[in-house]
Amino acid sequence: MSIFPAQLAPQYIERKGISDKMSSPIPNLLINSAGILFFLLWIFSGFSMSAQALRLPTANRALFEPGGEPRYYVGTAGKTWVSGTFGCVRTYGRQMHEGIDIRCLQRDKLGEPRDPIFAVANGIVAYINPRTALSNFGKYIVLRHQIDGLEVYSVYAHLSEIRAGLTAGKTVQAGQTIGIMGRTANTRQAISRDRAHLHFELNFFLNDRFSEWYKKFMPGQRNDHGVWNGINMVGIDPAKVFEQQARQGTQFSLRRMIQQETVLCRVLIRKTRFPWAQRYPALVTRNPVAEKEGVAGYDVFLNFNGLPYRVIPRAASELKEGPKFQLISVNDAEQRKNPARSLVTPKGSHWILHPNGIRHLELLTY
Ligand SMILES: [Zn+2]
Repeated sequence: MSIFPAQLAPQYIERKGISDKMSSPIPNLLINSAGILFFLLWIFSGFSMSAQALRLPTANRALFEPGGEPRYYVGTAGKTWVSGTFGCVRTYGRQMHEGIDIRCLQRDKLGEPRDPIFAVANGIVAYINPRTALSNFGKYIVLRHQIDGLEVYSVYAHLSEIRAGLTAGKTVQAGQTIGIMGRTANTRQAISRDRAHLHFELNFFLNDRFSEWYKKFMPGQRNDHGVWNGINMVGIDPAKVFEQQARQGTQFSLRRMIQQETVLCRVLIRKTRFPWAQRYPALVTRNPVAEKEGVAGYDVFLNFNGLPYRVIPRAASELKEGPKFQLISVNDAEQRKNPARSLVTPKGSHWILHPNGIRHLELLTY
């Protein structure tokens, strides 16, 4: 793959190959050796790509090397690489890092990061923030992908440059260069040159009506990024996806990985409006009773980060009277292990929904 310039990554060639094939017959390609080479490369890249749902967003591959973590992740100032991984890894587990910080490999004469940033899959540009001052992510790009029947968003933050001409709605190919690594951020404390990294996220989208919800629930607060506000997305661990995919090859399924998340809590939602179920039908378990009688609510399994990874529609006949959001069960061990989101909180000898959990459910059902 390294023989291709990033702009001509294999999937791009694969696409181009298909349209070439349709406009000019294959025998024409085969009569010259360049054509044969191109044809073979097209075949080869097609096979190797179909096995891979996602590719890495930079040239750093240390994630796949035994003991390579310190060369892959960048920790926060004075902390180990673990603080650059996904999850409850900051401020003694109380603070969530909803992406991974990938270490820089290439620097210019001044020591500034120069790594090209690649689209991890074919997709469409959903959003670009070109103004550092507007986000702690600095300049960033959000791409929308369809992977394994799931609408997934990749986020590339702290960029120094966004590729010229890249705008919302444009199509991108897996492996295409979309920007250059940087250390842009509007935080008081700048990202040091040493810590230069790509902050990378893989997210699910919560609600199209986010802006209205935000105005109602956060009155007077600024929202510079519309539905692309971080509150409106819930992340999964990209490294887990890359690693599982590397292990399982063609057997890898993002959908299966999500369906096998660990439960933090189960909540009964007594509302019919739950856009998540329409957006992510792959995560909805069929229920013949609700299909026959009509959906009156939802039985929802949330992981520690609030991802509704399993949803069961419920009919009115299956729901007893109760509150709008009813906590059914909590996995104590999981809450102790991953406490940062504080979706649930202990009250006496039992658990209740924390205001953070209620806010999250309000957004999911707005
Ligand atoms: Zn980060």
